[in-house]
Amino acid sequence: MGQSILSEAGYVRRADALECEGVPLTAIAERVGTPVYVYSAGVIRERYAQLTAALAGLPVSIHYSVKANSNVAVLALLRSLGAGVDIVSSGELHRAMVAGYTGDEIVFSGVGKTRDELQRALAAGVHSINVESEGELRELNDVAREMGTVARIALRVNPDVAVSTPHAYTRTGEQGMKFGIPHEDVVATARIASEMQNIRLIGLAAHVGSQISDAAPYLLAANILTSLKHVIEREGLAGISILDMGGGLGVSYGEESGPDLAAYADALRPLAAEPGITVLIEPGRFLVAESGVLLTRVLYRKTSGGKQIIITDAGMNDLIRPSLYESHHEIDAVTESRGAHVSASVVGPVCESGDFFARDRMVPDAESGDLLALRTVGAYGFSMASNYNSRHRPAEVLVDGNRFGIITERETDVDLTARETVEPEWLES
Ligand SMILES: *Cc1c(COP(=O)(O)O)cnc(C)c1O
Repeated sequence: MGQSILSEAGYVRRADALECEGVPLTAIAERVGTPVYVYSAGVIRERYAQLTAALAGLPVSIHYSVKANSNVAVLALLRSLGAGVDIVSSGELHRAMVAGYTGDEIVFSGVGKTRDELQRALAAGVHSINVESEGELRELNDVAREMGTVARIALRVNPDVAVSTPHAYTRTGEQGMKFGIPHEDVVATARIASEMQNIRLIGLAAHVGSQISDAAPYLLAANILTSLKHVIEREGLAGISILDMGGGLGVSYGEESGPDLAAYADALRPLAAEPGITVLIEPGRFLVAESGVLLTRVLYRKTSGGKQIIITDAGMNDLIRPSLYESHHEIDAVTESRGAHVSASVVGPVCESGDFFARDRMVPDAESGDLLALRTVGAYGFSMASNYNSRHRPAEVLVDGNRFGIITERETDVDLTARETVEPEWLES
């Protein structure tokens, strides 16, 4: 769908060295160490502005999907631009509130919300809860009754829309998947909701997948949502004021083109044409992916079976996307003094064959001590990082113009064992 709108914005090469906005990446590596995630505030602002410009004139409310990049500084930046948030756990609720969001700016999605999470969401006064099953609906009604309140909800519809995404794990809107309520059951669920004292159905939601570059699935899902809205209203089951199209807008990782925002806006028009409707969207990746690089230092070079292997100090615990989704990330030399490229695998130190960032492809001919930048890692990078192999999760740095600041300290050994104990307090059953 269309041309890539995505530039190398935020990252430029000056003289020999790669810079984020006005800050040389070498300066960040020296000051903060490696591996380190670096985000450009300017790129996030630019993506947000592009999206709002494309949707100008439509009654759209942007709710950033926290799971893409959950850092509280990033959340606060997006709030300053006018975004609300979409959360999928009470942990994300906590993060959103630390970043300054109020309940009415938060929608709560997720296929398996616990009773405790539902309680906390209601206590926070979230704008709405996207309910994904009849069981959850009953649980929520129960919790709301206990709390003496009424829960505003949207029903998350599984529209049975097949999307073409680079990896099956990023598809969510097809029949037989765990997400949402099958579209043929939605009216029946709305009827059940309409009979509940502590539930107020205000919306319908769908989320068809992630890393989508084609507007067609959005249009299909939009038509399903509007026809369900008509049936629900004709039968007097609810007044629907929110139609939520979820997230999924793709970005270019170097091989594919980015989304056509005009076609995306067109796909939302059937929703916007409904009288009195606010269209909610939940972009994650689109707003933050391109803002980020993972800076890593080359530890060693070796050859095996005639193949070149470049071993970095970042591993799959820091960035799992290549291992989990076979995703592609461009790899740049931070200083290009050598300039040459080589066919090699770039791998991490983790004891797994799946611990790689690139396999047998042309990458900078980097030697021990050189800095590499893994590109387009601002989404689903740090937020999916783990301590596997008891590695410290990396630091995160935000760059804004000529300044940079640490927004997450690198973990230490103390963090690794802080919640563990050698000798437990034995309990009798
Ligand atoms: C993950 C998710 C999103 C964000 O998806 P992106 O592809 O990052 O835009 C939005 N809504 C829901 C319900 C999600 O699960």
